[in-house]
Formats: sequence, structure tokens, C-alpha cells
Amino acid sequence: MTSNASFAAPPWEAAAALLRAASRVLLIAHVSPDGDALGSTLALTLALRAQGKHAVPACQDQPHPRFGFLPSVHEIRQALPLGEAFDLIVALDGSDAARMGTIYQPAQHASLPLLVIDHHITNTRFGTVNLVDPSAASTAEIVFALLKRMDAPITPEIANALLTGVVTDTQAFRTSNTTPQTLAVAMELMQLGGNLQEVTRQALVLRTFDSLRLLGAGLMSAKVEDRVAYAALPQKLREELGVREERGDGGLVGMLISAYEVDIAAVFVELPNGEVEVGLRAQPGFDVAQVAFEMGGGGHPAAAGCTLPGPLREAVNRLLPRLKQAAREQR
Ligand code: AMP
Ligand code: MN
Ligand code: MN
Repeated sequence: MTSNASFAAPPWEAAAALLRAASRVLLIAHVSPDGDALGSTLALTLALRAQGKHAVPACQDQPHPRFGFLPSVHEIRQALPLGEAFDLIVALDGSDAARMGTIYQPAQHASLPLLVIDHHITNTRFGTVNLVDPSAASTAEIVFALLKRMDAPITPEIANALLTGVVTDTQAFRTSNTTPQTLAVAMELMQLGGNLQEVTRQALVLRTFDSLRLLGAGLMSAKVEDRVAYAALPQKLREELGVREERGDGGLVGMLISAYEVDIAAVFVELPNGEVEVGLRAQPGFDVAQVAFEMGGGGHPAAAGCTLPGPLREAVNRLLPRLKQAAREQR
């Protein structure tokens, strides 16, 4: 994970060359797509189409309705027609090959060049070219820099999609990954037509009433032990509350890490297939990326995640001692 590759200059020219040479591009947003995965994927899709290329955005999981405002979001495919031919694959905002989910079919895709564009410290460099910059707050910033290098016109739609990635991955410029560079990028994207207020409202503020009730129930059941806060959200709870969203924590892990008494927070979400999606957060000075990576996931020091086998209680029992140990060692 701490390979020297993280410190090498990102291969901008090699990435641009792959895109220039391609004419049929498959763009893959990571599973359970967030605003950065979707915004980056759609921005690059639109920019490639403007250059006359065939560009297909795809993601194993359907985007959450809150992202319905993003340009062309309804064109994102959850599956590909058999035998559709591409000459380049781009994986966006995913730290390893598994994050591409079922869209990536090795039998059809392994022979194609794969361009990885990402900002996770845990990125495994699974591409032919890996445009990975852990100092970027969002993948959208990397896509923006790449498009500018390629002299691609940034339309207001593209700017809005990129701004969505910046705003969601920084929780509207509040998280520790926000730098002067992040703000400079946001300023440029606003000047290019991105609507900061609208993006923030749609992607971060507005939510379903159901998800508020899930958040409330999760908060009531949460515990703190040894400065580690945790809560589990079983599918059964969603059914009882009538929550229509099958995944996600309603923002619970972000609430838990806001407590003075907490150094590390974890929320365990039981998925319909019985697997457990874990969201992790750390106070400044603590790192959850390493633990997530050890568990087959990844992320950033302050925000990471992994997917564990069920049942829910076993996933909690497996990870919780490890989190307490990490909190103790890092204190
Ligand atoms: P979340 O708690 O879902 O908002 O995720 C926080 C961070 O961890 C994001 O940067 C995700 O990309 C990353 N992450 C979450 N789940 C996984 C996973 N299963 N594998 C790799 N990275 C993950
Ligand atoms: Mn993401
Ligand atoms: Mn991201």
C-alpha cells in the first residue's frame, strides 16, 4: 500500500494518450456509486462524446435518485449488451478491480487497456495506466486537470458534474482532504457554469424522510466502547421502518464521528444479499484506511470502507476489536 508509486508524478501524458487513441470507451463508476464516482464518470463521458467518440457510462448499481440532476445520469448502464466492443476501459474513483463490480468481465475486457483514475491512498494500481493522486480531494479534480491538459472544452454540464464530485467527497469543503487547490478547482468550476448551491442542495442536503428515521434508529442503537463508536443496520430494521433504500447508512457514520468522545466510527450495513457494507470514519490524527485495506476494502485515512461476509453480528465481532486496537495504537 505504501509503494513508491504513490509518490511518483501522475502519468498525465500516458492517460491523455490512451484517451486520444480510443474511439469506443467504456467508463466504469465504482459499485454503490457516490457523487464523485458518478460526477467523474459522466463528466468524462460527455467530454469524450464531444470529441466524437462513443462513450458508455456504466455502474453495477443504480445511482441513488438524489443524483437525478446529473447530466446523462439515466444513461448509466447496469449491464452491457453481450459482445459490445470497446477499445478502452476507464475505471473511476475505485481503489481496486473489485470496485468495478460486475460491469468488468475479464473474459471480454482483460485484453483491453485499462485507465484507472482515482485518489484513494489504498489504490492497488490495477490499470495499464494509473492516474492516481491521493493528494486530490476527489477523482473529479483529477478528471478536470486531465481534461484541461487535453484542451477539452468544459461545458456548464461537465462543470456541474465535476463540482458534484468535489462537493460530495469534501462534504461541502468541510473534510480534512480539502486544500486551497480544492477551493481553486471549485472556483474555476463555478466560473465555468457549475452551480454550487444547487449541487450542494441536491447531492448533500435533500434526503428522504425514511432515511431520517433510519438515522434516528441507528443513533439510538449506537454504542461507544474505548472511543470507538459503532452501530449496525440490519435489513429487518429497514423493513420495520419502511425504508425503501436498500443500502446506505443515511449519514449515520458521519454523525457518530462528530462526537467528542469518539476517535473512530463504524457503521455496519446489512445488504439484501447478506453481505455487510462497512463505513469507517476517523478523527484527524487517526487512520481507518489501513484497517479497511487489510479487510479487503480501501479508502482515505479519514474515511474508508470495506465489504465483509455476513452475518451482521459476525462482521461486527470481527472488525470491532481491530478498530479498538487501531484507535489505541494511534492515540
Ligand atoms: P463511505 O463510508 O461509503 O462513504 O466510504 C468512505 C470511503 O471509503 C470512500 O472513499 C469509499 O470509496 C471507500 N470505500 C467504501 N467502501 C469500500 C470498499 N468496499 N472497498 C474500497 N473502498 C471503499
Ligand atoms: Mn467514491
Ligand atoms: Mn472519491
